[in-house]
Amino acid sequence: MKPPPLKDDCFAMPAGVDWTPVDSALAQLRARLHSVTGAETLPLAQAGGRILAQDVVAARANPPYANSAVDGYGFAFETLPEGAVCTLPLATGRSAAGAPFDGVLPAGQALRILTGAALPEGVDTVVLEEDCSVEGDKLAFRAGLKHRANTRNAGEDLGAGAGVLAAGHRLRPQDLALLASVGVAEVSVHQKLRVAVFSTGDEVVDINAGSAGPSQIYDANRPMLLDLIRTWGFEAIDLGKVADDAELVAAALDQGAASADVILTSGGASAGDEDHVSAVLGAQGNLQNWRIAMKPGRPLALALWQGIPVFGLPGNPVAALVCTLVFARPALGVLAGAGWSAPQGFELPAGFHKRKKAGRREYLRARVRDGLVEVFRSEGSGRISGLSWAEGLVELGDGAQEIDHGDRVMFYPYGAFGV
Ligand code: AMP
Ligand code: MG
Repeated sequence: MKPPPLKDDCFAMPAGVDWTPVDSALAQLRARLHSVTGAETLPLAQAGGRILAQDVVAARANPPYANSAVDGYGFAFETLPEGAVCTLPLATGRSAAGAPFDGVLPAGQALRILTGAALPEGVDTVVLEEDCSVEGDKLAFRAGLKHRANTRNAGEDLGAGAGVLAAGHRLRPQDLALLASVGVAEVSVHQKLRVAVFSTGDEVVDINAGSAGPSQIYDANRPMLLDLIRTWGFEAIDLGKVADDAELVAAALDQGAASADVILTSGGASAGDEDHVSAVLGAQGNLQNWRIAMKPGRPLALALWQGIPVFGLPGNPVAALVCTLVFARPALGVLAGAGWSAPQGFELPAGFHKRKKAGRREYLRARVRDGLVEVFRSEGSGRISGLSWAEGLVELGDGAQEIDHGDRVMFYPYGAFGV
C-alpha cells in the first residue's frame, strides 16, 4: 500500500514574503509534508533502525511472572517469627531461573531461591543471601525486611496489552530488547525512505574519478550527504556529479524520480547564470525558491519533480550541511514516517563574543569545553575544517544580538540532529 503523493503546492511560500524566518519555513514544511513510504513486516532482528508503522502493544507482561530480584531465601512475610533475629527451617528443594520450585512452600519455612526464579506459592518476600547465615537446615537473618522485599511483581514493567511504542518511533537497540521482553516477534515498519543525491558544478570532481585539475575542486558534499542519509537509517542512492547543463540536470532529476522518494542536490540552487538546478526546477518542476533568513545557506530550492520532492541545497559544504540538518532532516523524517522532530538543544554560557545583525538566524560551528560554548575561529563558509572541528552548532536568534562571555546561547550537539 503506497500513501498518496504530495500535493503540487506543498512547497508554495506565502505571497509577499521577502525573507522567510527559519521558524516559518520549518512550520510550512511540517504542515505540508506527509509520509510517502509504505509498510512491511520484519522480524525483530532485522527491524533495528526502522520506523514503526503501527503502534505496538505488549503480547505478554514483563516480567511475565513474579520472580526473585536476588540470590537468597524466600518465605511468606506474614509468617515471619517476632524478634530481632528471624530463624526459619529450610525446606528441601529450590527455585531457580527456568527451573521453578514445584509445589507450595509451607507457612513458616524458607526456600532457596535464585535471581529470576519464579516465586512459588507461599513466597512473597526474599532475603538476600549475603544477609543470612545457614546452619544445617536452619536459616537466620536480622529482622527488618519489608513485605515483598527483593521481588519483582508480574507485569511491574508492562502489563499484557499495554502500549509499548508508538507508530513513528525509530527502533534503537534498546527498543528491540523491550519488544522481545513483551513477546513481540515481528513489527510493521515503514519501508526505507530512498534518498537520491547528486552534486552539480563544472568545477566539481568526484574524489574517486581521478585527480582534479588546477581550476577544479573535489566533490565534498556528496560523500557527506550520502553518509548522513545512511546514518539516519534511509537508503542512499548515489547519482554522481552532474555538469552545469540544463539537460543533464533534468536527466539526473528524472533518474532520481524513477529510483527514489526524495532527491537532494547540491550547488546551482541560487538564481545566477550557472545555477542550473533552480533554472531547471523553475522551468519544469514548480520551483519555490525559499529565501530563508538564515546564515549560512540562504538559497534553498524546493520543488516537486514528477511528484518527487527535491531539496536543492546550496553548493557550499558548510551551508549544505547546516541546511540539511536544519531543514532536510525534519522533512525527511516526516516523509519517512517518523513524524516531525525538533532537535533538542542546551542553553550554555558562551565562551565567545559576537555581535549580529537583525533579520536572520545564524548557525555557528561550535563545541563545548569546560562548560563554555566555543565557536570556530572563522565564520568563512568555505572553511570545511570547521565542520570537523565542531561538535555541534550554536544557534543565534533572528533579532540583533550582542553576545558576551557568559551569556547563555543555544547549543545543539550534532547528536541532536542524529549525527
Ligand atoms: P553554488 O551553490 O553552485 O554556487 O556553489 C557555491 C560554492 O560551493 C562554490 O564555491 C562551489 O565551487 C562550491 N561547491 C559547490 N558544490 C560543491 C561540492 N559538491 N563540493 C564542494 N564544494 C562545492
Ligand atoms: Mg555551482
